[in-house]
Amino acid sequence: MFGTCFNLANIEPSSNIYGPGNRFVIWLQGCTLACKGCWNTAMWPHKENELIERQKLFNQIMDAPGIVGVTFLGGEPLQQAENLLWLMKQLSEEGLDIMLYTGYEFAEIQLCSNKQGIFNFVDILISGRYQHSLRNTNLLWRGSENQKVNFLTAKYNETTVSECNQVEIYIGEFGELSILGYPEQELINALSKPGY
Ligand code: SF4
Repeated sequence: MFGTCFNLANIEPSSNIYGPGNRFVIWLQGCTLACKGCWNTAMWPHKENELIERQKLFNQIMDAPGIVGVTFLGGEPLQQAENLLWLMKQLSEEGLDIMLYTGYEFAEIQLCSNKQGIFNFVDILISGRYQHSLRNTNLLWRGSENQKVNFLTAKYNETTVSECNQVEIYIGEFGELSILGYPEQELINALSKPGY
């Protein structure tokens, strides 16, 4: 849609909650899967948000200090599959591990010729639509119980997963707060009170 540019929603160059270890995290803009109860509806439109040339994004990742890997989420990363596969290939050649969140089911990816290439590069795949009726805030890396953690390489396995919710809270230069992860509503309410 945007040639060799990614359409980005957000970037976090250092996070410890979207996969094992310290990771560069990339939210890609645009998702047509429309899961009921999705928290990221602002990331649904495929209209231009923030474009970045894929080579420039790769360089930015390689300049990030102390990361063990990269995590992609969104939005729906597999709706920018061509650039995603290109970037995953470069990253895996550099020895970085790769984690991918997708709303597509494992079998849907296997059957789709322009998506199945991810199986050559992804170490951990979080797959499946978010189902609000199965929401569980005590899960590691997932929002609902139907979503699956798939270990696709020998780098990680089930012992990496200890079920618990993780959130990260960032305090900006001017005291503004941002929360990453799947926070309980009570935490959001508490942080919204005066004094925080
Ligand atoms: S796949 Fe993710 S971003 Fe897309 S609608 Fe479902 S929960 Fe939201």
